[in-house]
Amino acid sequence: MLESKYIWMDGKLVPWKDAKIHVITHSLHYGSAVFEGLRFYGTEIGSAIFRLEDHTNRLISSAVSIKMQIPFNAEEINSAIIETVKANELKNGYIRPLAYYGYGKMGLRPEGAPVNLSIAVWHWDNYLGTESVNVKTSSFMRFHPKSSITTSKFAGNYVNSILAGTEATSQGYDEALLLDYEGKVAEGPGENIFIVSDGHLFTPPPGNILAGITRDSVMTIAEDLGIRVEEKPLTLDEIYNADEAFFTGTAAEVAPIKSLDDHDLKNSLGPVTEKIRTTFFNIVNGKDDKYKNWLTVVQ
Ligand code: PMP
Repeated sequence: MLESKYIWMDGKLVPWKDAKIHVITHSLHYGSAVFEGLRFYGTEIGSAIFRLEDHTNRLISSAVSIKMQIPFNAEEINSAIIETVKANELKNGYIRPLAYYGYGKMGLRPEGAPVNLSIAVWHWDNYLGTESVNVKTSSFMRFHPKSSITTSKFAGNYVNSILAGTEATSQGYDEALLLDYEGKVAEGPGENIFIVSDGHLFTPPPGNILAGITRDSVMTIAEDLGIRVEEKPLTLDEIYNADEAFFTGTAAEVAPIKSLDDHDLKNSLGPVTEKIRTTFFNIVNGKDDKYKNWLTVVQ
Protein backbone atom coordinates (compact mmCIF):
# COMPACT_ATOMS: atom_id res chain seq x y z
CA MET A 1 0.00 0.00 0.00
CA LEU A 2 1.20 3.50 -0.78
CA GLU A 3 1.45 4.65 2.79
CA SER A 4 4.00 4.86 5.58
CA LYS A 5 4.20 6.68 8.90
CA TYR A 6 5.68 10.14 8.37
CA ILE A 7 6.51 12.61 5.67
CA TRP A 8 9.15 15.25 6.33
CA MET A 9 7.80 18.68 5.38
CA ASP A 10 9.98 21.79 5.68
CA GLY A 11 11.78 20.56 8.77
CA LYS A 12 9.03 18.62 10.54
CA LEU A 13 7.86 15.02 10.44
CA VAL A 14 4.14 15.05 9.69
CA PRO A 15 1.87 11.97 9.90
CA TRP A 16 1.37 10.55 6.38
CA LYS A 17 -2.37 11.36 6.29
CA ASP A 18 -1.80 14.99 7.30
CA ALA A 19 0.89 15.75 4.71
CA LYS A 20 -1.30 18.09 2.65
CA ILE A 21 -0.76 21.21 0.58
CA HIS A 22 -3.01 23.92 -0.86
CA VAL A 23 -4.48 23.33 -4.33
CA ILE A 24 -3.07 26.71 -5.44
CA THR A 25 0.44 25.34 -5.15
CA HIS A 26 2.54 26.70 -7.98
CA SER A 27 4.28 23.46 -8.92
CA LEU A 28 1.03 21.51 -9.09
CA HIS A 29 -0.06 23.77 -11.94
CA TYR A 30 3.12 24.24 -13.94
CA GLY A 31 5.31 21.19 -13.23
CA SER A 32 7.93 23.46 -11.66
CA ALA A 33 8.95 21.02 -8.91
CA VAL A 34 12.26 19.15 -8.88
CA PHE A 35 12.55 15.72 -7.36
CA GLU A 36 14.70 12.72 -6.66
CA GLY A 37 14.17 9.01 -6.22
CA LEU A 38 16.43 6.95 -3.98
CA ARG A 39 16.27 3.49 -2.53
CA PHE A 40 17.34 2.06 0.77
CA TYR A 41 17.94 -1.61 1.39
CA GLY A 42 18.03 -3.84 4.43
CA THR A 43 21.62 -4.86 5.22
CA GLU A 44 23.10 -6.81 8.13
CA ILE A 45 24.10 -3.59 9.84
CA GLY A 46 20.83 -1.73 9.30
CA SER A 47 18.98 -0.07 6.44
CA ALA A 48 21.36 1.57 4.00
CA ILE A 49 20.61 4.38 1.54
CA PHE A 50 22.22 3.93 -1.88
CA ARG A 51 24.33 6.86 -3.11
CA LEU A 52 22.64 9.42 -0.88
CA GLU A 53 25.03 12.32 -1.54
CA ASP A 54 24.86 11.84 -5.30
CA HIS A 55 21.07 12.01 -5.27
CA THR A 56 21.04 15.07 -3.02
CA ASN A 57 23.58 16.79 -5.25
CA ARG A 58 21.44 16.05 -8.30
CA LEU A 59 18.37 17.46 -6.52
CA ILE A 60 20.25 20.66 -5.78
CA SER A 61 21.59 20.88 -9.28
CA SER A 62 18.07 20.41 -10.73
CA ALA A 63 16.92 23.27 -8.49
CA VAL A 64 19.83 25.49 -9.57
CA SER A 65 18.90 24.82 -13.23
CA ILE A 66 15.39 26.20 -12.67
CA LYS A 67 16.74 28.97 -10.40
CA MET A 68 14.89 27.58 -7.40
CA GLN A 69 16.51 28.25 -4.05
CA ILE A 70 15.89 25.29 -1.76
CA PRO A 71 16.01 26.68 1.79
CA PHE A 72 18.13 23.71 2.98
CA ASN A 73 21.73 22.86 2.07
CA ALA A 74 23.06 19.45 1.01
CA GLU A 75 24.04 18.47 4.53
CA GLU A 76 20.60 19.39 5.89
CA ILE A 77 18.86 17.50 3.10
CA ASN A 78 21.00 14.41 3.71
CA SER A 79 20.17 14.53 7.45
CA ALA A 80 16.48 15.04 6.72
CA ILE A 81 16.45 12.01 4.40
CA ILE A 82 18.15 9.89 7.07
CA GLU A 83 15.70 11.16 9.71
CA THR A 84 12.72 10.29 7.48
CA VAL A 85 14.01 6.80 6.75
CA LYS A 86 14.58 6.18 10.48
CA ALA A 87 11.16 7.51 11.49
CA ASN A 88 9.31 5.28 9.07
CA GLU A 89 10.88 2.09 10.43
CA LEU A 90 10.84 0.27 7.10
CA LYS A 91 13.51 -2.27 6.34
CA ASN A 92 13.73 -1.21 2.70
CA GLY A 93 11.94 1.21 0.46
CA TYR A 94 11.91 4.15 -1.88
CA ILE A 95 12.61 7.77 -0.95
CA ARG A 96 11.06 10.75 -2.74
CA PRO A 97 12.50 14.18 -1.97
CA LEU A 98 10.48 16.91 -3.71
CA ALA A 99 11.31 20.62 -3.81
CA TYR A 100 8.43 22.70 -5.07
CA TYR A 101 7.16 26.21 -5.47
CA GLY A 102 4.37 26.40 -2.94
CA TYR A 103 1.36 28.56 -2.21
CA GLY A 104 1.59 32.32 -2.59
CA LYS A 105 2.23 33.17 -6.19
CA MET A 106 0.90 31.99 -9.55
CA GLY A 107 2.06 32.61 -13.10
CA LEU A 108 4.99 31.50 -15.15
CA ARG A 109 7.60 33.51 -13.24
CA PRO A 110 7.89 31.71 -9.92
CA GLU A 111 10.57 33.94 -8.40
CA GLY A 112 9.24 35.14 -5.09
CA ALA A 113 7.05 32.07 -4.55
CA PRO A 114 7.88 30.11 -1.39
CA VAL A 115 10.02 27.02 -1.91
CA ASN A 116 9.01 23.93 0.07
CA LEU A 117 10.79 20.64 0.54
CA SER A 118 9.15 17.35 1.36
CA ILE A 119 10.62 13.87 1.78
CA ALA A 120 8.41 10.81 1.61
CA VAL A 121 9.38 7.18 2.08
CA TRP A 122 7.38 4.09 1.25
CA HIS A 123 7.82 0.45 0.46
CA TRP A 124 8.04 0.00 -3.31
CA ASP A 125 8.73 -3.28 -5.00
CA ASN A 126 10.78 -3.28 -8.17
CA TYR A 127 9.03 -0.89 -10.54
CA LEU A 128 9.02 -3.18 -13.59
CA GLY A 129 8.62 -6.45 -11.72
CA THR A 130 11.31 -9.11 -11.42
CA GLU A 131 10.77 -10.77 -14.81
CA SER A 132 12.39 -9.49 -17.95
CA VAL A 133 10.35 -6.88 -19.77
CA ASN A 134 8.72 -6.47 -23.17
CA VAL A 135 9.44 -3.03 -24.54
CA LYS A 136 7.88 -0.93 -27.28
CA THR A 137 9.50 1.97 -29.10
CA SER A 138 7.41 5.04 -28.37
CA SER A 139 5.75 7.24 -30.94
CA PHE A 140 6.68 10.09 -28.55
CA MET A 141 10.20 11.45 -28.95
CA ARG A 142 12.38 12.07 -25.89
CA PHE A 143 12.12 15.83 -25.41
CA HIS A 144 14.71 17.81 -27.34
CA PRO A 145 17.69 18.91 -25.20
CA LYS A 146 16.92 22.47 -26.20
CA SER A 147 13.29 22.14 -25.06
CA SER A 148 14.24 21.53 -21.44
CA ILE A 149 17.28 20.43 -19.45
CA THR A 150 17.81 16.70 -19.82
CA THR A 151 20.08 16.38 -16.78
CA SER A 152 17.46 17.82 -14.42
CA LYS A 153 14.62 16.00 -12.76
CA PHE A 154 11.97 18.69 -13.32
CA ALA A 155 8.47 17.36 -12.62
CA GLY A 156 7.28 18.88 -15.91
CA ASN A 157 9.79 16.81 -17.90
CA TYR A 158 7.91 13.72 -16.86
CA VAL A 159 4.80 14.38 -18.95
CA ASN A 160 6.94 13.15 -21.85
CA SER A 161 7.67 9.95 -19.88
CA ILE A 162 4.04 9.49 -18.87
CA LEU A 163 2.84 9.77 -22.48
CA ALA A 164 5.38 7.19 -23.63
CA GLY A 165 4.78 4.80 -20.73
CA THR A 166 1.00 4.97 -21.01
CA GLU A 167 1.13 4.34 -24.74
CA ALA A 168 3.31 1.23 -24.25
CA THR A 169 1.30 -0.27 -21.41
CA SER A 170 -2.03 0.43 -23.14
CA GLN A 171 -0.72 -1.69 -26.02
CA GLY A 172 0.16 -4.56 -23.69
CA TYR A 173 3.91 -3.90 -23.27
CA ASP A 174 5.71 -3.47 -19.96
CA GLU A 175 7.67 -0.34 -20.81
CA ALA A 176 8.45 2.20 -23.52
CA LEU A 177 11.72 3.13 -25.20
CA LEU A 178 12.09 6.71 -26.38
CA LEU A 179 14.22 7.79 -29.31
CA ASP A 180 15.92 11.17 -29.42
CA TYR A 181 15.38 13.89 -32.02
CA GLU A 182 17.92 12.23 -34.30
CA GLY A 183 16.14 8.89 -34.16
CA LYS A 184 18.83 7.36 -31.94
CA VAL A 185 17.96 5.41 -28.81
CA ALA A 186 17.61 7.68 -25.78
CA GLU A 187 16.16 5.92 -22.74
CA GLY A 188 13.06 4.53 -21.06
CA PRO A 189 10.53 6.83 -19.37
CA GLY A 190 12.40 6.42 -16.09
CA GLU A 191 15.34 4.21 -16.98
CA ASN A 192 18.60 4.20 -18.90
CA ILE A 193 19.31 1.43 -21.36
CA PHE A 194 22.35 -0.80 -21.95
CA ILE A 195 22.98 -3.47 -24.55
CA VAL A 196 25.50 -6.29 -24.55
CA SER A 197 27.18 -7.13 -27.82
CA ASP A 198 30.15 -9.52 -28.12
CA GLY A 199 30.62 -9.35 -24.37
CA HIS A 200 30.87 -5.54 -24.31
CA LEU A 201 28.41 -3.07 -22.86
CA PHE A 202 27.07 -0.13 -24.84
CA THR A 203 24.87 2.71 -23.65
CA PRO A 204 23.79 6.04 -25.18
CA PRO A 205 26.02 8.98 -24.22
CA PRO A 206 24.84 11.92 -22.09
CA GLY A 207 23.16 14.69 -24.06
CA ASN A 208 19.67 13.41 -24.71
CA ILE A 209 19.25 11.35 -21.55
CA LEU A 210 19.19 11.68 -17.81
CA ALA A 211 22.55 10.09 -17.07
CA GLY A 212 21.31 8.09 -14.11
CA ILE A 213 23.08 7.20 -10.91
CA THR A 214 22.28 3.50 -11.45
CA ARG A 215 23.75 3.84 -14.95
CA ASP A 216 26.91 5.28 -13.45
CA SER A 217 27.00 2.47 -10.85
CA VAL A 218 26.58 -0.20 -13.54
CA MET A 219 29.37 1.33 -15.63
CA THR A 220 31.69 1.23 -12.61
CA ILE A 221 30.67 -2.34 -11.73
CA ALA A 222 31.19 -3.51 -15.32
CA GLU A 223 34.64 -1.97 -15.54
CA ASP A 224 35.58 -3.55 -12.22
CA LEU A 225 34.38 -6.91 -13.58
CA GLY A 226 36.59 -6.43 -16.63
CA ILE A 227 33.67 -5.80 -18.99
CA ARG A 228 34.37 -3.03 -21.47
CA VAL A 229 31.79 -0.23 -21.50
CA GLU A 230 31.34 2.20 -24.34
CA GLU A 231 29.03 5.21 -24.50
CA LYS A 232 27.84 5.53 -28.07
CA PRO A 233 24.68 6.49 -29.96
CA LEU A 234 22.65 3.33 -30.54
CA THR A 235 20.19 2.52 -33.31
CA LEU A 236 17.08 0.41 -32.84
CA ASP A 237 18.66 -2.17 -35.10
CA GLU A 238 21.59 -2.56 -32.72
CA ILE A 239 19.14 -3.36 -29.94
CA TYR A 240 17.16 -5.85 -32.04
CA ASN A 241 20.45 -7.62 -32.79
CA ALA A 242 21.99 -7.33 -29.32
CA ASP A 243 22.89 -10.39 -27.29
CA GLU A 244 21.33 -8.87 -24.18
CA ALA A 245 19.77 -5.59 -23.10
CA PHE A 246 18.65 -4.16 -19.80
CA PHE A 247 17.23 -1.04 -18.20
CA THR A 248 18.73 0.65 -15.16
CA GLY A 249 17.16 3.08 -12.70
CA THR A 250 16.58 3.57 -9.02
CA ALA A 251 13.00 2.31 -9.22
CA ALA A 252 13.64 -0.33 -11.92
CA GLU A 253 17.08 -1.35 -10.54
CA VAL A 254 18.65 -3.63 -13.19
CA ALA A 255 15.78 -4.92 -15.35
CA PRO A 256 16.52 -7.35 -18.20
CA ILE A 257 14.76 -6.69 -21.51
CA LYS A 258 13.16 -9.68 -23.19
CA SER A 259 11.91 -8.11 -26.40
CA LEU A 260 11.75 -4.82 -28.23
CA ASP A 261 8.93 -4.15 -30.71
CA ASP A 262 8.13 -7.88 -30.67
CA HIS A 263 11.69 -8.86 -31.64
CA ASP A 264 12.86 -11.34 -29.04
CA LEU A 265 16.43 -10.61 -27.99
CA LYS A 266 18.87 -13.51 -28.08
CA ASN A 267 18.71 -13.78 -24.29
CA SER A 268 16.00 -12.61 -21.93
CA LEU A 269 18.46 -12.67 -19.02
CA GLY A 270 21.91 -13.18 -20.46
CA PRO A 271 25.14 -13.97 -18.60
CA VAL A 272 26.54 -10.42 -18.62
CA THR A 273 23.28 -8.89 -17.36
CA GLU A 274 23.07 -11.61 -14.74
CA LYS A 275 26.62 -10.93 -13.51
CA ILE A 276 26.07 -7.19 -13.31
CA ARG A 277 22.69 -7.59 -11.68
CA THR A 278 24.00 -10.00 -9.06
CA THR A 279 26.89 -7.66 -8.25
CA PHE A 280 24.52 -4.69 -8.06
CA PHE A 281 22.20 -6.46 -5.60
CA ASN A 282 25.13 -7.64 -3.50
CA ILE A 283 26.34 -4.05 -3.29
CA VAL A 284 23.01 -2.47 -2.37
CA ASN A 285 22.35 -5.21 0.17
CA GLY A 286 25.68 -4.48 1.85
CA LYS A 287 27.36 -7.73 0.81
CA ASP A 288 30.24 -6.22 -1.13
CA ASP A 289 32.73 -4.26 0.97
CA LYS A 290 34.44 -2.80 -2.06
CA TYR A 291 31.54 -0.43 -2.68
CA LYS A 292 30.52 0.36 0.87
CA ASN A 293 31.19 4.05 0.30
CA TRP A 294 28.00 3.99 -1.85
CA LEU A 295 25.93 3.13 1.22
CA THR A 296 24.81 5.35 4.08
CA VAL A 297 23.78 3.11 6.93
CA VAL A 298 20.85 4.41 8.97
CA GLN A 299 21.52 3.18 12.49
N1 PMP B 1 16.10 8.35 -17.01
C1 PMP B 1 15.03 8.98 -16.52
C2 PMP B 1 14.19 9.82 -17.42
C3 PMP B 1 14.70 8.83 -15.15
O1 PMP B 1 13.62 9.43 -14.65
C4 PMP B 1 15.49 8.01 -14.33
C5 PMP B 1 15.13 7.83 -12.88
N2 PMP B 1 15.67 8.83 -12.08
C6 PMP B 1 16.61 7.40 -14.90
C7 PMP B 1 16.89 7.58 -16.25
C8 PMP B 1 17.53 6.56 -14.06
O2 PMP B 1 18.21 7.39 -13.16
P1 PMP B 1 18.70 6.85 -11.74
O3 PMP B 1 19.50 5.65 -12.02
O4 PMP B 1 19.52 7.98 -11.21
O5 PMP B 1 17.50 6.57 -10.92
